[in-house]
Amino acid sequence: MRVYGLKCGNCLDIIWSRARHDYILCTCRNIGTDGGQDVGATTRTTTALGATWKYVTLELHGVQKKDMYDDWNFSLNKLGRIKAGTVDLRQQVIDIDEN
Ligand SMILES: [Zn+2]
Repeated sequence: MRVYGLKCGNCLDIIWSRARHDYILCTCRNIGTDGGQDVGATTRTTTALGATWKYVTLELHGVQKKDMYDDWNFSLNKLGRIKAGTVDLRQQVIDIDEN
């Protein structure tokens, strides 16, 4: 499925909210987002003073909305964040579009 998230301009983590009440922060805690993947969710973003970020679109192969909810609800935490400099094959990201 396609998900919408943010890339932190400081720590370069990519984060996205997995469920309506999933509030997730990047490693340096400069940016956070919640609201899940409903329309307009990425506008529910909090930022530290002076923080910079980009909007990103990711295509997650083989991931359904229920997988995202369960990952948050059961604290599996395999989704929702890609730490900078890592290639996480569990997430099977097939495309990242930085806007
Ligand atoms: Zn950060």
